[in-house]
Amino acid sequence: MDEPYVRTVGFIEGDGIGPEIWRATKAVLDAAVELAYGSQRRIRWRELLAGEKAFRETGQWLPSETVEAIRELGVAIKGPLTTPVGFGIRSINVALRQVLDLYACIRPVRYIPGVPSPMKHPERVDMVVFRENTEDVYVGIEFPSGSPEAEELRRFLRERHGMEIRSGSAIGIKPMSPEGSRKLIRRAIRFALERNYPSLTLMHKGNIMKYTEGGFRQWGYDLAREEFGDRVIPESRLGEGPVPPGCVVLKDRLADQMFQQVLLRPEDYHVIATPNLNGDYLSDALAAQVGGLGMAPGANVGDQAALFEATHGSAPKYAGLDKVNPSSLILSGAMMLEHLGWMEAASAVEEALKRTISKGIMTYDLARQISSAREVTCSGFAEAVVRELEEGLSST
Ligand code: NAD
Repeated sequence: MDEPYVRTVGFIEGDGIGPEIWRATKAVLDAAVELAYGSQRRIRWRELLAGEKAFRETGQWLPSETVEAIRELGVAIKGPLTTPVGFGIRSINVALRQVLDLYACIRPVRYIPGVPSPMKHPERVDMVVFRENTEDVYVGIEFPSGSPEAEELRRFLRERHGMEIRSGSAIGIKPMSPEGSRKLIRRAIRFALERNYPSLTLMHKGNIMKYTEGGFRQWGYDLAREEFGDRVIPESRLGEGPVPPGCVVLKDRLADQMFQQVLLRPEDYHVIATPNLNGDYLSDALAAQVGGLGMAPGANVGDQAALFEATHGSAPKYAGLDKVNPSSLILSGAMMLEHLGWMEAASAVEEALKRTISKGIMTYDLARQISSAREVTCSGFAEAVVRELEEGLSST
């Protein structure tokens, strides 16, 4: 018999509810791989330390071995990490994105039938947000009100550029580069073309922030023309006709208008590429449209590594209760299988999770909104998904 193909993947179980949603996720992913490939493929899980467990065991919140291991393995998955008070940088998550140059935060937003939603037609939402992850106001260059640095910057702007900033202002800096924006938009365009999405929208606030957000828009159009030629068609050139096969339409929308559009005309939007702060707001708002953060998968991806993660936090008050919804991490695991090219296992996970929910089997966060639902624990939900996997794959 052939030796199985074994792929080593790193995992960080996370803080708070992390260990329980990770156990649920691992059970589902292992079952999906085994059912899809028998003894031909297997994931070898390698634990990596970060957060509270790392601090307890090594005295460091983010050991350099963890960063090196993610770089070496190329793929890892993580539960949520509590932001430690007094850690040098703002959060371990932001640190991981910056040191590994995970420049794209990718969040698919799709409705799963049966999940309670505030929308009349949540099924019209099928979007993937590509949020730039390393630039913009998130670089953290900020000076407090009244600080010598803020006063020095005020003086510099007044004396050298004749610009007045109100006395006592706190000042933040918003750097956005053509290189950083182009890397993100290139990845988003490739994704849209590979998956046959009809449109890609650049979301920006370039009417007000002309050189940063406006730059993002312009760099996007330039890149599309220079690198993708006729395969990417600006909306202004398309007219009323259909999108030619194998092509994608490039649109741009102001950030404020985009929030209206995704509520009023969600079916017109597919892949969205956007700077960091806009993307932060939009991806959480879209997650709420289709049932909340407990359901939303996500990945932080760069050219050398990809880190898949639950998009919610560590919810410490629920830790150890075996109560919360593991769907966000399970669906992030499905994205990870897709990234590895293990498509059969990836779609089996998604389908099994959909069938579980459509039968009304849900954790408390969803069950409390639906009178006919059968509430299960976090581990009970994973068991139900594994049962669906077994039934789904044995019937094909
Ligand atoms: P949170 O997402 O942890 O929890 C807020 C509330 O959302 C919870 O009290 C709970 O009611 C609900 N919730 C969250 N996840 C759920 C799930 N899987 N199932 C059901 N309900 C769920 O947000 P917070 O309380 O603001 O943050 C707690 C900690 O997590 C903080 O230290 C924060 O910095 C950190 N955090 C980490 C990440 C990450 O690792 N990516 C993201 C956000 C917040």
